[in-house]
Amino acid sequence: MSIFTKIINREIAADIVYEDDICLAFRDIHPQAPVHVLLIPKVAVESLDQLSAEHRDLCSHLMLVIPKVAAHLGLTGGYRTVINTGPHGGQTVFHLHIHILGGRSLAWPPG
Ligand code: AMP
Repeated sequence: MSIFTKIINREIAADIVYEDDICLAFRDIHPQAPVHVLLIPKVAVESLDQLSAEHRDLCSHLMLVIPKVAAHLGLTGGYRTVINTGPHGGQTVFHLHIHILGGRSLAWPPG
């Protein structure tokens, strides 16, 4: 079981900023920007590579929740979304998550 499933199950604490039946958003414990939130599905999918057609509605839902969470967090100047996948992508927690970063101007390209 990943640490994010434990957050969903309230077995470990997190600073939750959004929740519905399908997903949960909470502040990253090591923020890389003034606002750094992780949006996760409640169903345990390891990464983008584990998605299939059965997750179509889930993916749509997550995409539609991103701007809601960003607005709730006051990210009027814009924000960045990142999904790290696999070792070369820098993924460290194997429960699909979308980073939502903002609150300052972000550099590009990433390292
Ligand atoms: P990634 O490297 O893309 O897999 O991102 C995993 C993220 O999860 C990192 O930014 C971590 O700081 C964050 N993280 C790990 N454990 C926790 C936790 N208990 N609560 C909040 N964020 C966490």
